[in-house]
Amino acid sequence: MIYKRSSALFAEAQQVIPGGVNSPVRAFKAVGGDPIFVKEAKGAYLYDEDGNRLIDYINSWGPMILGHAYKPVVDAVVEKAQKGTSFGMPTQIETEIAQLAVKMVPGIDKIRFVNSGTEACMSAVRLARGFTGRDKIIKFAGCYHGHSDSFLIQAGSGAVTFGTPNSPGVTAGTAKDTLLAPYNNLTEVQKLFEANENEIAAIIIEPVAGNMGCIPPSEGFLEGLRELCDTHKTLLIFDEVMTGFRLAAGGVQELMGVQADIVTFGKVIGGGLPVGAFAARNEIMDYLAPVGPVYQAGTLSGNPLAMAAGLAMLKELDSDPQIFKRLEEKTEYLHKGMSKVLTENGVVHTINRLGSMISVHFAEKPVTDFASAANAATDTFKKFFHGMLAEGIYIAPSAYETWFITDALTYQDLDETINAVAKVAPGLK
Ligand code: PMP
Repeated sequence: MIYKRSSALFAEAQQVIPGGVNSPVRAFKAVGGDPIFVKEAKGAYLYDEDGNRLIDYINSWGPMILGHAYKPVVDAVVEKAQKGTSFGMPTQIETEIAQLAVKMVPGIDKIRFVNSGTEACMSAVRLARGFTGRDKIIKFAGCYHGHSDSFLIQAGSGAVTFGTPNSPGVTAGTAKDTLLAPYNNLTEVQKLFEANENEIAAIIIEPVAGNMGCIPPSEGFLEGLRELCDTHKTLLIFDEVMTGFRLAAGGVQELMGVQADIVTFGKVIGGGLPVGAFAARNEIMDYLAPVGPVYQAGTLSGNPLAMAAGLAMLKELDSDPQIFKRLEEKTEYLHKGMSKVLTENGVVHTINRLGSMISVHFAEKPVTDFASAANAATDTFKKFFHGMLAEGIYIAPSAYETWFITDALTYQDLDETINAVAKVAPGLK
């Protein structure tokens, strides 16, 4: 495939945008080469500026669960745009999407909309601190909750891909209030509680981790966190920015039957427009301004175009409960197909999967936390990435990311992907 025009556009972008990108994970720093510039996308496919067609396994890092340019979403946005794009005043559609979200997600009474997953998580932690009157939070190594200061402590995703899991610019004062534990390790969490009695406001966790590749929680882990939080009067925050409205209509809370105190959303809830949200029961949400003392605000929060896209998306998911099963079946098919050809070619690998989230680590041992993810062979991943790209398959340009399966993918697309793996595999040993 030829990427001449993408490379030229990248060179131009680098003159005026740091690193040529508006979010680091878009750069190919971890795998080498120039990023691909997208011209348009439809269904399961991206069309780049050089005229290549790529099967897309990133799907805007999660939102496009029904495929790109999904007609009901596009129509809803176009219709709204003609009536004004922002007012900074209440609109009915905000209540409509809130009602639907409250219906779909277990255990929440109220939801507040913001503009990104970062804002959602940042606000959720502030709310937890205000509610409990405590300062410290526990996060897990390799989990990513956006780029707000208190989360850039052993963060996953681009932060680790680019070697800055603890970013300069985060003050020591902020860092000291973020306590760290390894994912899937209840004993270490217990120790943190013992060493910081009555000081921990919240545990924040990706209940299925997606920012060190995909790492599902081990059996009893989330239940154990729930118990520890109850014992210590600490709030449990599920960061469902990736998993919300993706793994089930009600996210991981529904799928695994564990109730969080605060849940955050992003990605799918905005249908591809900039939306985040956080939600909880009344007792907690009533701590937020203008009702309560914890301040949080946004000029463009609840923006009509964003709400129209989100509402159209949630309506589709709500009206078609089979979608989550369909997505899981497609993901399982891909998993089995890829694993078979990699094994046949003697390539050591571990594929983790849950619902429509999947990732490939070139690791011999199970990948269950950040340390085991970091043990995977990065050189093999680089070869794999470029091999797949040459075959017209676009996966995330880092092993510390998850692939997102969309309903627009056909079994023919999945077969094309598995055939590409078969072609690339002999060069990976
Ligand atoms: N939480 C999780 C679990 C995420 O995966 C991300 C982004 N990938 C965020 C929070 C931050 O969301 P945003 O990029 O919209 O700020």
